[in-house]
Amino acid sequence: MISSNINRIRESIRVKCEQSGRDPEEVKLIAVSKTKPVSEILDAFENGIIHFGENKAQELRDKNETINKEVSWHFVGHLQKNKAKYVVKAAEYFHGLDSIALAVEISKRAKQEGKIQKVLLEIKTSDEESKFGLEDKSEIIDLLTYCKNDEYLDSIGLMTMAPYTDDESRIRKSFRSLRMLKNELNDLGFTLRELSMGMTSDYLLAIEEGATMVRIGTGIFGSRNY
Ligand SMILES: *Cc1c(COP(=O)(O)O)cnc(C)c1O
Repeated sequence: MISSNINRIRESIRVKCEQSGRDPEEVKLIAVSKTKPVSEILDAFENGIIHFGENKAQELRDKNETINKEVSWHFVGHLQKNKAKYVVKAAEYFHGLDSIALAVEISKRAKQEGKIQKVLLEIKTSDEESKFGLEDKSEIIDLLTYCKNDEYLDSIGLMTMAPYTDDESRIRKSFRSLRMLKNELNDLGFTLRELSMGMTSDYLLAIEEGATMVRIGTGIFGSRNY
């Protein structure tokens, strides 16, 4: 099942990129393996998946210690400062940076690990109450400026979650606003490359709007039992 899901999703990404005049090579497929066993991650790996996403720090730590393959981990959730050490140890990419306090902690841990941590700022692009992320432009600029001046952080892009709705126009608006924000910030002298947006239900829309990283869980592994 996992292998046919992966093939189907890869093919749909290829077709969507072609329709949108984009190169499929510029879209990373991140298989969000949260709650799923190591055996299924290895199954996806055998089918060519390299990028895996987790959203719990200890779960990421444990899976990283168990799996000795060249996988690239992405932490895609909200992170508490006291768990930053697990994420920095394991993850190549952190998709949820939303405060200077957290950036300070991640930088400290990255220095200890002797690495430069790739981070994406989480931006709130919908009016839903529950979502994490930054909205205020001056806060976003302050955080990016902090990262730029910190030798252990590499702020490579922006991440968002679309609103939970069937209304395609609201989802598109959310993705589009992330792309426009990235352009605006780059005009101010930042060098953001990545747009992490799109999940199982909306990744094709996200690709139309410029996503360079799509985070797909249920579409690959099936539904989750919490
Ligand atoms: C769980 C999760 C995903 C994947 O969601 P699916 O709907 O299963 O594809 C993507 N991004 C984040 C931040 C998540 O927590």
